[in-house]
Amino acid sequence: MAYIQFLGAAGTVTGSKHLVNTSSDQGGKAGFQLLIDCGMFQGAKEWRLRNWQPTPAPAAGIDAVVLTHAHLDHCGWIPRLVREGFRGPIYATPSTIDLCGIILPDSGHLQEEDARFYNRHKKSKHDPALPLYTLAEAEDSLQRFRPVQFEQTTQLSPEASFRFVPAAHILGSAMVELTLNLNGKVKKLLFSGDIGRVRDQHIAPGKVVRSGPTEGETADILVMESTYGNRQHPTDDPRPKLAAIIHHTVERGGTVVVPAFAVERTQKFLFMVKDLMESGQIPRIPVFCDSPMAIKAVEVFLKHSEECTDETCRLIRQYGSPLQWPGFTFALTSEDSKKINATNYPAIIVSSSGMVTGGRILHHLTQRLPDPKNTVIFIGFQAPGTRGFMIKSGVPEVRIFSDTVPIRAEIATLEQFSDHADTPELLEWLRTFTRKPATTYLVHGEPSASSLLRDAMQKELGWNVQVAEWMQKVIV
Ligand SMILES: [Zn+2]
Repeated sequence: MAYIQFLGAAGTVTGSKHLVNTSSDQGGKAGFQLLIDCGMFQGAKEWRLRNWQPTPAPAAGIDAVVLTHAHLDHCGWIPRLVREGFRGPIYATPSTIDLCGIILPDSGHLQEEDARFYNRHKKSKHDPALPLYTLAEAEDSLQRFRPVQFEQTTQLSPEASFRFVPAAHILGSAMVELTLNLNGKVKKLLFSGDIGRVRDQHIAPGKVVRSGPTEGETADILVMESTYGNRQHPTDDPRPKLAAIIHHTVERGGTVVVPAFAVERTQKFLFMVKDLMESGQIPRIPVFCDSPMAIKAVEVFLKHSEECTDETCRLIRQYGSPLQWPGFTFALTSEDSKKINATNYPAIIVSSSGMVTGGRILHHLTQRLPDPKNTVIFIGFQAPGTRGFMIKSGVPEVRIFSDTVPIRAEIATLEQFSDHADTPELLEWLRTFTRKPATTYLVHGEPSASSLLRDAMQKELGWNVQVAEWMQKVIV
């Protein structure tokens, strides 16, 4: 029998990697081997260490990768897979490929920078500290990408074909409908990837990409994310609260620092700040976007504006490219970045990584966290074990580059920016299925979120639901 093996994002929200093997031999390679997503583990060390282990199925024996979207926890291990010998095609939507063209080289660059930093400061137990993969390896892996349009069927092998359908999570994001023809028996598997906000604009204000994951799905086996399996997002507009936070911080002469993913979340935040400024709801203070990747991402968004919401299209028409806005500075070089450190007047600094696991945000927080005049606003999910999670949870100090940084700045959180459906939205989406899947496996969630969503699905829908375990194999 064919099987699925959960190689990542089982028991955690990162490292998405699901192996599908059409073989009847559980240990062998007789069948076609496909990886749905190839994400990097982030967060707690226990998980991050798994980035250094080879896949249980040797990389050279994997025939293809199908990628749902361009977030690192779904695509960030691709260069390592190629380094380990993977030579097959990587299928993704055109906008996902454009975003990976930014995200993967940046990730390789960060890996190298971190290794250099640790070597210079002798702060690693490993001598020398090595990058998981290099910038050159990340760029090299891009050659394996093959564009596939939404709704187009692609034959992978005589027994396997797939289609992308919109997931409405970020630009280019897709669910994977995988059809297996196993000895004359057709099985349909649906891998949700990350699921975006369900149909609307008003409950996800400021969303860049159109809401509404594909409805009316059907599957024999559903493999579904459960990031917010225990949560209900606030339904109010975040703008008044954001304006109030910025006002208070400016009044006391402080700076607002926003850790944000460079792709999508940063663009969404910048559009919102621009709109608040133009409508006179916040003062016109300098805005620094300290992320070379965010600049490139703006260009990708403008290129694929057919996926943007009407609100985003209106803002683009009204204000043009964010790269041209007066008062908004996009820092490209590390010299530009250092100049931001020298500013001591009120400003807004947006920088990545979004979970404060690396990148230029580390330097901004080292400098701004000790001063009570400043405010740090979290607008994205913070995985347990990340610095972002610790700062958000109210710890008095945090370790950055092995230094202890006291936290005296105000810490604020805006939950409305989420690009993931919450529990009521997930249930609403599941109710549109034309029939119950025989089994649903929940992945991509902390254990408590996954088990609460399992309970809710069993109780409200009567579905057969299991929480996937890391390395577990399930028969298709
Ligand atoms: Zn995602």
